[in-house]
Amino acid sequence: MMASQLIPQKWHPTVTPSRRSSERSPAAASGVPRSRRSSVRSTVAASGVRKEDIVIVGGGIAGLATAVALQRVGIGSVVLEQAESLRSGGTSLTFFKNGWKVFDAIGVGDELRTQFLEIQGMVVKSEDGRELRSFRFKDEDESQEVRAVERRTLLETLANRLPPSAISFSSKLKTIEKSSSHNDDTLLKLEDDSLISAKIVIACDGIRSPVAKWMGFPDPRYVGHCAFRGLGVYPNGQPFHPRVTYVYGRGVRAGYVPVSPTKVYWFVCFNSPSPGPKITDPSILRQETEKLLQHWPSELLSIIKSTPDDTIIRTPLVDRWLWPGITPPPSSGKVVLVGDAWHPMTPNLGQGACCALEDAVVLAKNLAEAMKLGTMTVEDALRSYGTRRWPRIFPLTVRANLVGALLQLDNPLVCSLRNNVILPKLVRLGPILEHTNFDFEPLQVQ
Ligand SMILES: Cc1cc2nc3c(=O)[nH]c(=O)nc-3n(C[C@H](O)[C@H](O)[C@H](O)COP(=O)(O)OP(=O)(O)OC[C@H]3O[C@@H](n4cnc5c(N)ncnc54)[C@H](O)[C@@H]3O)c2cc1C
Repeated sequence: MMASQLIPQKWHPTVTPSRRSSERSPAAASGVPRSRRSSVRSTVAASGVRKEDIVIVGGGIAGLATAVALQRVGIGSVVLEQAESLRSGGTSLTFFKNGWKVFDAIGVGDELRTQFLEIQGMVVKSEDGRELRSFRFKDEDESQEVRAVERRTLLETLANRLPPSAISFSSKLKTIEKSSSHNDDTLLKLEDDSLISAKIVIACDGIRSPVAKWMGFPDPRYVGHCAFRGLGVYPNGQPFHPRVTYVYGRGVRAGYVPVSPTKVYWFVCFNSPSPGPKITDPSILRQETEKLLQHWPSELLSIIKSTPDDTIIRTPLVDRWLWPGITPPPSSGKVVLVGDAWHPMTPNLGQGACCALEDAVVLAKNLAEAMKLGTMTVEDALRSYGTRRWPRIFPLTVRANLVGALLQLDNPLVCSLRNNVILPKLVRLGPILEHTNFDFEPLQVQ
């Protein structure tokens, strides 16, 4: 059979002109808030059902990176985001060299590099402030690149690479089902009861993904610890070295990292038998954080004091292990999961968002082969994405979980062994960051 015959009949991919990395959409340049300039360009059938080629559910890091990666290979998509606008709050995320490789591949690396400090290394301290160990990243691996990036800036940077009509805000997916009337399309019902019939659905709808649930995935599992996070702000310049500082206590650990010349990200992880109630009052969050760190190094407490209320958040940590033969594959027909929707993992290796970015380029490459070159069907492209990504994702999820469990131990003997023997004498940075080595085939930019 000729390769092109494998493409389903009536398949007309939306092809968008790619934008050079330095270009912005005219609407973006106009400064009009994205929430007011987005709409879905689509065909509306007589039945009132909107028809789309590719619908991405969720406008977080995974959704927007996937839309930009697809656009780089000349494939258009529509992103449905439940919120009214891009998530403006949140703190920052640390990206290692695997994340930066993807940023470069989708054309946003240099724009982000100019705004966020390169982190030179890390230092580990005990809760009394004693330095246990320090490393320089480049001493172990010349190609390592580590920067903490504000989530808000990252989302805006990605969104500005897309045409104004690409993101549809206030568009919450309510239900998903196989369409009975439109070939093998998928029918998406939104919260306002409008209907979209999509040829391909890419679900980037995060840890509580309704699409993953529909595909038979179990809920993510709470791992027994929670994290407070925040972003300290220093309008006159922050005083810290560009390195990650970790402080290990008994059942509590914390860390901070300079993000930019004026901002410093911090986190505190603590054991808790249950996720507890959702707390939104910032004064309670601040009080609880400070209570955990009463006699800890003063610099950590001073960063928390410099943190505006609206950036402090508390998150119960969850993950989902993708057991072979038990957990469903990430694609079913022409519906596929990307990022946290597929593989929620604990943040102990700083790899959740890095892996979502990796997913985006691998998926875009596969879809380009199916839709532009016709070397495989769309279903095969999605299946092959799952087959290629699983061996990368599953071990990382397990490893992140085990690292977290070890670091959260509160037994005094174990903690003393960790602080006086394991960290100062046995740990090597090279093997710890081995997982940041990730290669992918380059995207053929259109
Ligand atoms: C404490 C903590 C620290 C972390 N630190 C790091 C780090 O340093 N480095 C790193 O790489 N990763 C880190 N991570 C992981 C990282 O935050 C996630 O992996 C990443 O945000 C996943 O992105 P996503 O787009 O898949 O999901 P999300 O960011 O959750 O985005 C999902 C999007 O889908 C939308 N959505 C949900 N449901 C619907 C619906 N029904 N209809 C329409 N839209 C919907 C949501 O509004 C949201 O915009 C950390 C995580 C935690 C908890």
